Amino acid sequence: MDTKYIFVTGGVTSSLGKGIIAASLAKLLQSRGLSVTIQKLDPYINIDPDTLNPYEHGECYVTNDGAVTDLDLGHYERFLGVPTSQDNNVTTGRIYQSVIEKERRGEYLGKTVQIIPHITDEIKRNIKQLGTKYKYDVVITEIGGTVGDIESLPYIEAVRQMRWELGKRCLCVHLTYVPYVAAAHELKTKPTQHSVKSLQEQGVQPDVLVLRAEHPISDDIRKKVALFCNVERDAVIPCLDAPTIYQVPILMQAEKLDEVVLRKLGMENLPEPNLTEWNKFLEKFCNPKKTVKIGLVGKYVELPDAYKSILESFNHAGAANECKVDLTLFQSENITAENVADTLKGMQGILVAPGFGERGIEGKIATIKYVRENNIPFLGICLGMQCAVVEFARDVLGFKDAHSTEINPKTTHKVVDLMEDQKYVTDKGGTMRLGAYKCHIVENTLAAAIYKKSEIKERHRHRYEFNNEYLKDFEQAGMKASGINPESGLVEIVEIPSHRFFIASQFHPELQSTVQNPHPLFVAFVGAVAES
Ligand code: GLN
Repeated sequence: MDTKYIFVTGGVTSSLGKGIIAASLAKLLQSRGLSVTIQKLDPYINIDPDTLNPYEHGECYVTNDGAVTDLDLGHYERFLGVPTSQDNNVTTGRIYQSVIEKERRGEYLGKTVQIIPHITDEIKRNIKQLGTKYKYDVVITEIGGTVGDIESLPYIEAVRQMRWELGKRCLCVHLTYVPYVAAAHELKTKPTQHSVKSLQEQGVQPDVLVLRAEHPISDDIRKKVALFCNVERDAVIPCLDAPTIYQVPILMQAEKLDEVVLRKLGMENLPEPNLTEWNKFLEKFCNPKKTVKIGLVGKYVELPDAYKSILESFNHAGAANECKVDLTLFQSENITAENVADTLKGMQGILVAPGFGERGIEGKIATIKYVRENNIPFLGICLGMQCAVVEFARDVLGFKDAHSTEINPKTTHKVVDLMEDQKYVTDKGGTMRLGAYKCHIVENTLAAAIYKKSEIKERHRHRYEFNNEYLKDFEQAGMKASGINPESGLVEIVEIPSHRFFIASQFHPELQSTVQNPHPLFVAFVGAVAES
């Protein structure tokens, strides 16, 4: 079957949830037996978000093959349960980089290199290769930004060309916003009309319009939008706010988004969507039997998007345990040895978050001392594990100035340190230990009980590592390495066997948790909390 290409564009405003609409449509198509992938095109000049501050961009999502990507790829994986790769996220920076490299190699044979056709050709090559290289039935490409932005012009032009070249194999879903003007008691379609006009001016006629709104959209409004925007009435799909993003596929199915899309692509006669497993998850997620209170200690708490995958992993693990995870985010900068007990009062479990740099470190360490000494279930991730190691070194091993050399390069006890191959790296972007690495699980440990396997693969994004020179000291004093990289011997998991539940990983388990495969570490952590 020839690959079909669906483009998802957005109008009126950002943050409308294009990623969730793309993921929901993909889920519906996948549940009818099609192989589907989703790609995100980001119109910024950075090569990837690796060097971006989380305040700019939220979480960086890391793929198995070590690409640092937009957080929407996390939604794609959580919805579809299929890993993405470098090819699923392309930025303007990367497009230009490869065009400029080709130019330097002389591949343009003396031609003037221009946005059209060279940049647009490179964009099209990146879209089409998901079809040709991986043979997906359907490739859904989400165009970042909002229609009308200067940055997205070359992408929209590439969409126009692909529709012209591939005809019925291409389709454009445009997502807009229908605001409610309270004074007039009315929903307003004008912004939608304008954003469709803007697309049309760029040569793209949307096939399907998805209207985000906070109030029900009447049939009259659908008719009006259909008439003004040259879109069939049943291809104007209302999308009201949902109590959870995981309900959006069900809402979109009820509005027949998948049916309309398949009809327009000439793919009728597919089986009805099989959403049995999805609905089982929703059933448990929406009907918890109890609530557990968990605290997340990190430094980006004003911006929960910085911890997107962790928050979603708790949703998956909560459903698996039939309980609601009531998560409170704590600013680690405000936590001290003196106030930690008061601050975290009532929390039945604590997660110490990943992160970079010095800010809030001592609060994380004080938190870990508190949970370790009070037998409170604990999960540490990446920097969270490094802080657990530092805390143990200081308070149990008695190495008072122990630290990670990221924070204090002069410490006399470098319990977390750079590996040789990282020491001479000066570039910041794309130079961390990135992507999936194997990890051997040590027998008779909490990790072994949780994973029930001896070898796993988990994703990384960090520079610093547990310093193996200290491993013996740690193990003798009661902190055990229970996950080891079989090739490098690096410590990937630590735990304290005498504690009720104290485990921390150098890797990021949250990057592999999906609706249908909740991550075992999160499931076990929430389970341990639920028992308390
Ligand atoms: N800053 C730490 C390192 O680079 C931890 C990174 C993280 O938590 N992702 O090793």
